[in-house]
Amino acid sequence: MTSQKILVLPGDGIGREIVAEAMKVLEWVGSRPGVSLLIEEGLIGGSAYDATGGPLPEETVIRAKKADAVLLGAVGGPKWDRLDFSLRPERGLLGIRKALDLYCNLRPAQVFLPLIDASPLKREVVEGIDIMVVRELSSGIYFGEPRGVETLPDGRRRGFNTLVYTTDEIERVARRAFEMARRRTGKLCSVDKANVLESTALWREVVSELGARDYADVALSHMYVDNAAMQLLRNPRQFDCIVTTNMFGDILSDEASMLTGSIGMLASASLGDDNALYEPIHGSAPDIAGKGIANPLATLLSVAMMLRHSLNCPVEADLIERAVNRVLGQGYRTADIMQPGAQQVGTVAMGDAVMRALHGLE
Ligand code: NAD
Repeated sequence: MTSQKILVLPGDGIGREIVAEAMKVLEWVGSRPGVSLLIEEGLIGGSAYDATGGPLPEETVIRAKKADAVLLGAVGGPKWDRLDFSLRPERGLLGIRKALDLYCNLRPAQVFLPLIDASPLKREVVEGIDIMVVRELSSGIYFGEPRGVETLPDGRRRGFNTLVYTTDEIERVARRAFEMARRRTGKLCSVDKANVLESTALWREVVSELGARDYADVALSHMYVDNAAMQLLRNPRQFDCIVTTNMFGDILSDEASMLTGSIGMLASASLGDDNALYEPIHGSAPDIAGKGIANPLATLLSVAMMLRHSLNCPVEADLIERAVNRVLGQGYRTADIMQPGAQQVGTVAMGDAVMRALHGLE
């Protein structure tokens, strides 16, 4: 049996604390029959800067490219905020996404029943939502050229960015979304602003053609982004899988994630053709770092995504998600998701509770 290689990058702040809990789960996965994992640790972010003078050592990139999957904690913190932008911890994150050509960002928004009252929306609106936002991650207006701020002859300043998509960039992320929809309920909603923006009219055309050609079994619909933002609050259960551009996906996935109520619960995956990186959506939480109170569940759910999407271990992925549900059902809460009557626990105790639940479910 060949081992699957995982590069773990704890990063900064609470990164190390939450990744330590993920390591327990990974060790459990590695002990399962038919699974063999080789886990290495590397440097990224502020801790990489302290050790090497830069936020993304070349060695980290080389090892990430060779790995089957990368698990990242979080980067950043006030200690490094005065550094030049090129040396900031967050540059390490953008740098690794670019180096690995991670063009497809998966952001699930799922409601955990025991936490349903943490949502800012009414229970009857959010009950049962299970949405996967597939966001294009390496092109669009965040990367388009020309960009900048210029001074006009009359002294006014003009800021500009370019929203640009080529057909291949649209097709590769759309293909991922169709495949995802096929594995879920067979429904895909493509979000654009085709009535106003030519580049997203092209988006709609390419997605439609691909759907008709290769995914006739997937029910494809289209929605303008302003309507999608509204529908996500009005009736989120109508959505299963959403595919959209970089900027629209950035905004809609944050909106969708808040349906579930807590940032400490949300996982993400960033996929390329040959590489994949998994991370919780939250940052390094410097305000609580070192206190042992960070919620590790988003990181554990990121491990579940890694097992499902990169390591072909769907059984273990399901077990982890069920274990998380079980500990929430048993009333364990970290401070960020604390509710009246629940039992407050720290990072390590939450990780241990998930491990006990996993052993119980096996
Ligand atoms: P943040 O996500 O780190 O924290 C926002 C709030 O949520 C804080 O009050 C924090 O305590 C809380 N929080 C976040 N994760 C939590 C968890 N797992 N458990 C309990 N509470 C949690 O965002 P921020 O404060 O805007 O940024 C802090 C640093 O993180 C900055 O340097 C920023 O650049 C960086 N950042 C990194 C990433 C990343 O690594 N992917 C993402 C966002 C921000």
